[in-house]
Amino acid sequence: MLSCKELVANSSDYLDNRLSLSRGLEVRLHLTLCVNCRRFIRQMKISQAVYRKMQLEKAEDLDGLAQKLADAQRSSD
Ligand SMILES: [Zn+2]
Repeated sequence: MLSCKELVANSSDYLDNRLSLSRGLEVRLHLTLCVNCRRFIRQMKISQAVYRKMQLEKAEDLDGLAQKLADAQRSSD
């Protein structure tokens, strides 16, 4: 079975579904048996979701900014 350390090392690949089938099963098996790693993965998922949302909002901000700049340029002509 994987150690907690190995699970942590594989956690981001696990969350991105990039593990091989057998490694993915090992991770899932570890998670059913280890409450600490379950908590860890849950935290990782939450922070990943928050991070993605932030990236998305940042991208939307940039779109809005580009639009404002374009509008400003047009009105100054
Ligand atoms: Zn563990």
